[in-house]
Amino acid sequence: MGLLSGKKALIVGVASKHSIAAGIAEAFHQQGAELAFTYQNEKLKSRVEGFAEGWGSSLTFPCDVGNDEEIENVFKALGEHWDKIDIIVHSVGFAPAHELDGNYVDVTTRDGFRIAHDISSYSFVALAKGARNMLSDNSSMLTLSYLGAERVLPNYNVMGLAKASLEANVRFMASSLGPDGVRVNGISAGPIKTLAASGIKSFRRMLAENAKRAPLQRNVTQEEVGNAAAFMCSDLASGITGEILHVDGGFNVTAMGTLED
Ligand code: NAD
Repeated sequence: MGLLSGKKALIVGVASKHSIAAGIAEAFHQQGAELAFTYQNEKLKSRVEGFAEGWGSSLTFPCDVGNDEEIENVFKALGEHWDKIDIIVHSVGFAPAHELDGNYVDVTTRDGFRIAHDISSYSFVALAKGARNMLSDNSSMLTLSYLGAERVLPNYNVMGLAKASLEANVRFMASSLGPDGVRVNGISAGPIKTLAASGIKSFRRMLAENAKRAPLQRNVTQEEVGNAAAFMCSDLASGITGEILHVDGGFNVTAMGTLED
């Protein structure tokens, strides 16, 4: 019996085999969950269908999280296969490229700010609204955040603000949905090389700094984030909600490097 045996999980955010959502899907599959997926656009359709098949799933639905109608359609379509959902993973983030390159005050625009917050934060509560009637009374929603929500990093810019909003969203959603038995949490992952990460100008430096300064002296893997996600969405975490769990080798607790620096 796996940690997630008998649970039905919708995973939003698989784009490549490097996606954090792919690490989460793999861990959920290993722990016995039944999976369904969304893909952002037609370009990603066949790729996500292929991944889903590998995890024993034929349930894939189009969903641009910036579009309420597409969100509504996901749950309509999923409702024809499942009578309830136990887990929703939101592993989605986006800001226009020019926002992530240069001095924060100089490069941040009203439009970039709006888009980053809409796609990276609002979409989490939009999924909760869409799924509300299908969420079981022992269910769990999980999102992915980053240290830029709490600290300043060069070039992370408006994504940091969007992640701060997302983390507040976790707390407000936890309070709103807790009475219905829905837990809402986030994982603040250390840097991992993915498609989204490659859009951040100083990403290689983030990887190097994290590996050098983190107490574990290395970067984390998508498998480690996947395993933490499996725990957070399992009944072992039944008392945890409104929480942001750092899975970053401990980097967030440090102020300077190690003794050897
Ligand atoms: P990724 O590029 O593999 O995943 C990002 C996903 O967002 C993709 O699947 C993409 O299709 C989806 N997406 C973007 N805009 C969308 C839209 N409008 N509608 C639907 N889907 C949309 O990269 P990733 O690193 O796995 O990112 C997943 C999450 O993890 C993001 O929230 C990211 O900020 C967060 N995160 C990443 C890192 C890292 O270093 N990679 C660290 C901490 C947190």
